[in-house]
Amino acid sequence: MESFPHDRIQLPRNMIENSMFEEEPDVVDLAKEPCLHPLEPDEVEYEPRSSRLLVRGLGEHEMDEDEEDYESSAKLLGMSFMNRSAGLRNNAAGYRQNSDGSCSVPSTRTMVVCAVVLVIAISVIMVIYLLPKCTFTKEGCHKKNHTMELIYPLATNGKRFPWAKIRLPSNVKPLHYDLVLQPNLTTNKFTGSVQITVNVIQVTWNIILHSSQLNITKATLTSAGWHQAKPVEILEYPMHDQIAVVAPDALLVGQTYNLSIDYSSNLSDTYSGFYRVSYKDEQAEKRWLAATQFEPLAARSAFPCFDEPAFKATFLIKIKRDEQRSTLSNMPKKVTIPVADGIVQDEFSESLKMSTYLVAFIVADLKNISKEINGTLVSVYAMPQKLGQVEHALDAAVKLLEFYQKYFQIEYPLQKLDLVAIPDFQAGAMENWGLITFRETTLFYDNKTSSVMDKKLVTTVIAHELAHQWFGNLVTMEWWNDLWLNEGFATFMEYFAMEKTFPELLADEEFLKLRFKTMMKDSLNVSRPISSAVQSSEQIEEMFDALSYIKGASILLMLQKYIKNDIFQAGLQNYLYDHSYGSTRSDDLWDSMNKITNGTLDVKKLMKTWILQKGFPLVTVKRKGKSLYIQQERFLRSVESENWTSDASYLWHIPLSYTTSGCISFLCPYAYLLDQKSATIELQEEVEWVKFNVDMDGYYVVHYAEGDWQILIDLLKREPTALSANDRAHLINNIFSLVGIGKVSLLKAFDLIDYLVKENHSAPITQALFQMNLIYHLIDKRGMQDLAARVVGRVGKLLGSKIDEQTWTENGTLSEKEFRSTVLAFACSHHLGNCSTTATELFNKWKNSNGTQSLPTDVMKTVFTTGAKTDDGWKFLLSMYMSSDPEAEEKHKMLEALASTEDVRKLIWLMQRSLEGDVIRAQELSHIITTVSQSVPGHLLAWDFVKENWEKLIRKFHLGSYTIQNIVTASTFQFSTEAHLREVKAFFESKSEETSQLRCVKEAIETIQLNIQWMETNLAKLQQWL
Ligand SMILES: [Zn+2]
Repeated sequence: MESFPHDRIQLPRNMIENSMFEEEPDVVDLAKEPCLHPLEPDEVEYEPRSSRLLVRGLGEHEMDEDEEDYESSAKLLGMSFMNRSAGLRNNAAGYRQNSDGSCSVPSTRTMVVCAVVLVIAISVIMVIYLLPKCTFTKEGCHKKNHTMELIYPLATNGKRFPWAKIRLPSNVKPLHYDLVLQPNLTTNKFTGSVQITVNVIQVTWNIILHSSQLNITKATLTSAGWHQAKPVEILEYPMHDQIAVVAPDALLVGQTYNLSIDYSSNLSDTYSGFYRVSYKDEQAEKRWLAATQFEPLAARSAFPCFDEPAFKATFLIKIKRDEQRSTLSNMPKKVTIPVADGIVQDEFSESLKMSTYLVAFIVADLKNISKEINGTLVSVYAMPQKLGQVEHALDAAVKLLEFYQKYFQIEYPLQKLDLVAIPDFQAGAMENWGLITFRETTLFYDNKTSSVMDKKLVTTVIAHELAHQWFGNLVTMEWWNDLWLNEGFATFMEYFAMEKTFPELLADEEFLKLRFKTMMKDSLNVSRPISSAVQSSEQIEEMFDALSYIKGASILLMLQKYIKNDIFQAGLQNYLYDHSYGSTRSDDLWDSMNKITNGTLDVKKLMKTWILQKGFPLVTVKRKGKSLYIQQERFLRSVESENWTSDASYLWHIPLSYTTSGCISFLCPYAYLLDQKSATIELQEEVEWVKFNVDMDGYYVVHYAEGDWQILIDLLKREPTALSANDRAHLINNIFSLVGIGKVSLLKAFDLIDYLVKENHSAPITQALFQMNLIYHLIDKRGMQDLAARVVGRVGKLLGSKIDEQTWTENGTLSEKEFRSTVLAFACSHHLGNCSTTATELFNKWKNSNGTQSLPTDVMKTVFTTGAKTDDGWKFLLSMYMSSDPEAEEKHKMLEALASTEDVRKLIWLMQRSLEGDVIRAQELSHIITTVSQSVPGHLLAWDFVKENWEKLIRKFHLGSYTIQNIVTASTFQFSTEAHLREVKAFFESKSEETSQLRCVKEAIETIQLNIQWMETNLAKLQQWL
C-alpha cells in the first residue's frame, strides 16, 4: 500500500484479556533489554506488549528495569500466562541473558511491585469470577490443574468458544476459495457464499477462521470420505473477528475438507472492506460503485477466511451484477453467464497462491485504455470523462513493469495488470495483485493542470505499487511485524526504479526529504524498531508508518551503496526466487544476501542492528593530522537534554562513507564499517576537510569537532559546489539536528545557512526552508509575531535576489522548476519581495477569465493560495472547486488554498464538510487539517476540531491508521507550552486505553515536551541575535 492504509474491527481491549490470549510475540525489541550490551544480534528478548500494558495499568512504566516483574505479575494473576505454551516459557527463558546474573535477581522494587500486583490480581480475579457476564466459562475460571489448560472465551450463543488467541491456529490450512458475491449498490447490501478447501495438519474438531460482521445463514462441511455434506454449527467470537466451525466428526490429519458458508452483510461506509462510493457521471448524475480495500484486516468483512498473510491460497471469484455494470478482479474475466432477469455472473480465472489481503474486486462503470507488453495486458481504468488523464499512468506502468521484470529476472506472472482510479480512497494506492487501486490524484496527470511534482507523485506511486507485485504479492511477510519487507522494499524500489526509468523526474530528492523527516521521528524516545511485535488491530494499523516505509527503504539504500548494486541485486533475485508464493521473515532476506557475499560479509549480522534496534547512531568525528577518531552512540532527542547521555547498550554496524578534499574521483567515496563503539581511520595524507555520510546515503547523523565544522561552513560559503547538492542539504539537516540535542549552537547553524546566497539547487534550499519553517511556526504560534518576522527576514535577505529573479512561467529544467516552486511558495506566504503582488495579478487575471486562462502549473498552488486571502478570491475558488470542471490535481491545489485562509468560519466550514464527506470528500480531511494548522488561528481550531470529532474520526479512519497518525501529529506538533502539554495528555488519557497507548499520541506528547525545551534553550538567544 502507498503510505496510508486502514481498517479493521474492534478487538478486545480488556487489559487482562490481552495478556491472557496473546500469543507468543515473534519479534524482539532489543532497545528494551538492559542486559544486552553490547548488542549481540542473537541475544534477544521477547517483549510482549500485553505485558507492558499489564504493568502500565499498575502505574508502572519502566518495564526495562524489572523485566521479571511482568512474569511475576503473570504468575500471580495465575491465569494470564498459563495460556501460553511451555514452549514459549522455555523460549523466553532461553532468550534471557544471564551471564552476569544481573537480570535474574529480584530487586526490592520488584518485591514491592509483586506485592501490589498480587493484591490487584486477586481483586481482578474476584471481579471476573463474580461478574454475571463473565467472558470466561466457569470451567475456565475454576481450573485446578493450572499446567497447560486454556481458558476459553464465550461465543455469542453462550457456548464455549474453542480458541482464545488473536492469531489463528495452524492446525488447518486453506488451500482454495470459491467465492460468489452479489452486491446490490442500491440497497447497499451484499450476499455471498464461499467454499473453502482446507487441509488438516493436526487432528481437530474445529476449524477456526475470521469473519467480521457477516450474517451467516448456512454452513456445511464435506469430505471425500463422507457421502454428503453435513451441516455444521458455527460459533462466533466477534472480539477477535473469529468463527469456529464445529465439525460433526474428528477432522483427520492429511485429509482435505470443503467448508461451505452462505452469508450476507452491508457494504461498508468507511474506506475498508467491501465499500460503496458515490460519484458524478458525465451528466452530473449521482452514481455508485463498489470496491474493496482489504489490507490489513478487512478481507474478513467481505467473506469468511483465514485472514493472515501467511495463509496463502488460490481464489476463484464469481460476481453477480446488473447487466449494465461491469466488474474487475485480480484475474482476467473468464466467462459471463446470465443467472436471472437482468442479472449476469462474471467468473474470473483462478488466481495464483496469494494472501487474503491482496484479493480485490470492483463493480462499476469504468472505461479503460490498454497496452500489451510481453504477454501482459496493462490497462488503466477511470470514469469515462477522466480517461484523458491516464495516458502518463499507462506509459509509466508499462515502462516500470519492463524494468522490474529485468531487474528481478522474474516475469510478472499474471496475464493482466489493471490500474484503477477510485473516486474516494483513503490510502494513496493499494497493490492488490493484478488490480491496483489508486486515488485519482495519484493516477491522473494532465499537462495543462498538473505540475512536474504531480507527475513525479503519480510515477512514484505507480513504481511503488508495481514493486509490490514482487515484494508483497509474490513473496509476502509472514506476519505484520515484518511489514517493512513489503513497504520498505516497495519504497526503496520505487525510488531506485524511478532513477533508472525516469531520471528526469529527480525522484531521489524526494526520497532525501523523506529520510530527513523520518529521522526526526525516529530520534524520539517512543520510536520503535523497524521490526516490532504486533498483535492487536491498532498495533497492526500503526505499522503503516514512516519507519516501515522510509526507514526500511533507507537502510536498504545504505546496504545497496555499501555492498554495491550487483551483489544487492543478485541477493534480491535469490530471495524472490527462493520464496516465490511463500512467506518470509527478515532473516530470510539476509540469508539470501549472505549466499551471494559468501562469507566476505555477514549481511545478517550487520542488518540486524538496524532492524531490531530503534533509533539510529550519532557518529562523532575528531581529526588529528591524518587520523580520524570516530565513535558512535544513539542519537536521541531527549527531554532532559541538560544531562544528555546516550544509552550505552546501543551499537550499530555502520557502513560509513566519507569524502575528503584530497579525494581522487575513482576512489571516492571511501567506505569503512564501524562495528565497534569507536575506531580510528588513517587517511593517506593530511587533508583540508572531510565529510562523512556521502550524499546522505547512510542513516546516521555526523558531528565534527568545532574546527572542522568551521572548515565545512567556510567551504560552503567559498565554493558550495565542492560538495554535492545532497551533501549540502545533509550538512544543513545535520547541523540543525545537532542544535536539537545541544551539541551545536543555533548561532552556528544560522552561520552555516548564510551560504544560501550562493545556492541554486532545490534540495538544500528545501531543507533550509524546512528548518526555518519549524522555528518560525513555533515562535509564531506562541504569539511572538515580531520575532517570527525577524526569522523570516533573515531568510528573506539570503533569498532576496533569487525571489525576484524567478519567472512565473513553465520554462526551465525540472530542477529549476522545483527551485522556483519552493522559493515562491515560501516568499508569497511571508510576503517577501514582489511575490504576492505578482501572484495576485495572476490570480485576478485567472479569475476574470472565469478560470479559463491557464496558469503556470508549478506555481499554480502559490497563485491560488495568494488569491484565497481575500473573501472574494476565496469564494470564487470555492465555486470553481465545487464545479465539475477542474481536474483532480487542480482541485487538490484549490482545496489547499482554501484551507490556507485565516478566516475561522471558513476553516470550520471546510473541516466539517470534509468530515461529512459529501461536498468535500473525507479522503481530503487529513490534508485539510494539516493545512489549517499552519496559521495561528487555524492550529488552535484544528486541535479543537479533532477533540470534538474524535469519535467520528476514528470510526471513519480507524484507530492507529496512517490517517489518524497524520491528524494527531498535524494538530499538535506546534504546541510548546505546559498548558497545551497538559491538555493534549488529558484529552487522550480521557479516551480508551488503546488511544492513549497509540504511538502517534506518545509522539505528540514527546514532541511538545521537546518544543518546550527548545524554546527554553533558544528563545532568548534568538531574540538577542535577530
Ligand atoms: Zn506499499
